[in-house]
Amino acid sequence: MPGRPIADWVCLKGIIYLSGGYMKQLIHMLRRFFCDNIPTENMPEFTRFRVVYNAHILLVGASVLTLTETLLYFFQQKYYGTGWQLQIFLFINVAFLAEFYYIYKERERVKIRSTLALQALYELMLMIFAACLVLRVQTVFDLVHVYVMMIVFVVLFLNQTYWVHVLLTYFSYAFFVLMLPFYQTNALFALTAAINTFIGCSIALLFSRILSAKREKSFLGGVELRRKNEELSALAQTDMMTGMLNHTSVLGRLEGEMLLAQENGKPLCIFLADIDRFKVVNDRHGHLVGDHVICNVAIILMNCLRESDFAGRYGGEEFLIVLPDTDLGEASAIAERMRMQIDATALIPDGKVTISGGIAVYREESLGNLISAADKRLYIAKNRGGNCILAED
Ligand code: GH3
Ligand code: MG
Ligand code: MG
Repeated sequence: MPGRPIADWVCLKGIIYLSGGYMKQLIHMLRRFFCDNIPTENMPEFTRFRVVYNAHILLVGASVLTLTETLLYFFQQKYYGTGWQLQIFLFINVAFLAEFYYIYKERERVKIRSTLALQALYELMLMIFAACLVLRVQTVFDLVHVYVMMIVFVVLFLNQTYWVHVLLTYFSYAFFVLMLPFYQTNALFALTAAINTFIGCSIALLFSRILSAKREKSFLGGVELRRKNEELSALAQTDMMTGMLNHTSVLGRLEGEMLLAQENGKPLCIFLADIDRFKVVNDRHGHLVGDHVICNVAIILMNCLRESDFAGRYGGEEFLIVLPDTDLGEASAIAERMRMQIDATALIPDGKVTISGGIAVYREESLGNLISAADKRLYIAKNRGGNCILAED
């Protein structure tokens, strides 16, 4: 029947398609589980976080291992008499311990790459010696080494990317399997040991991954918390209506600029601007239009700022513009540009609004005196009829 194979084929395609969907999901899940789920931009910080976090655990782990080895050295002399590997291991472990102590002390300054490389080397050494010990006599005392090593090895993993860890694990496993026939002549025993060790390694890898995923989560939680805090502190500094800095933060930042100007001797100017006859705008057009005018004036002012300048809403319809590294001439030109742009824009239904302002140069006086110098000029400008900027008395 010609119809049958086609129906089978369609059916098969359907099954492949459906299972393909599940496979995709499964692959996605596995990929998420086995890979670092850290955004690229946070990766350098995460790597440092891992190294620093583990610095003390590693110090403790390596110390416990050295202590265990030393105790065994006294109580199990016979192994050290014959097992030259153990003597080398103890020696190398003490050397690493000194290095780990240094890393712990300098954990905020150490070079991440070389620290990771050193830890990978230690991990490899641990696993190779664990393999050597398992290959040798399998007594309870030997297993103590292996267990302590396993713990240190799992902790160490948290410093490495998962795939480095997998590579190191299966490299030592391959070493174990290659050496096994020299120590175990019974083929069945050898096969059992190989399978058991493979399962042991895989479980350790899985366990490490679970621990590491937890650490990633706590790191990302910290990043999120910091971002939220930054957002909150930015919000606390912002005037919600205009998006400018608020009164407190513009004054705070001005104080910072005053200190800088004092230090580096560069000129600093401020410009205090006020919307002319704003009460009339409110009375004629209502407060909503008034708000709209304040926002638009703020936008025009901010568009006139250079990279290093900043501005804040000083009061209701008053703005403070800070111009670092700017002399009186430049400040006057910037303020004049602001005044002209506002004058040239139709901000209310029946025309325009204007601003007046006073400019003051910082002369190492107090913040209050600097502001009042600008305020005084603003007052004179108002008395001259508004739409006027005054830079000198
Ligand atoms: P001058 O030319 O002397 O500056 O006169 P003025 O009317 O602009 O100044 P005055 O200080 O007498 O009035 C300012 C007005 O601004 C009074 C107040 O109701 C209004 N105002 C302050 N904050 C806001 C605001 O957020 N929204 C609105 N719509 N009005 C505000
Ligand atoms: Mg006003
Ligand atoms: Mg005012």
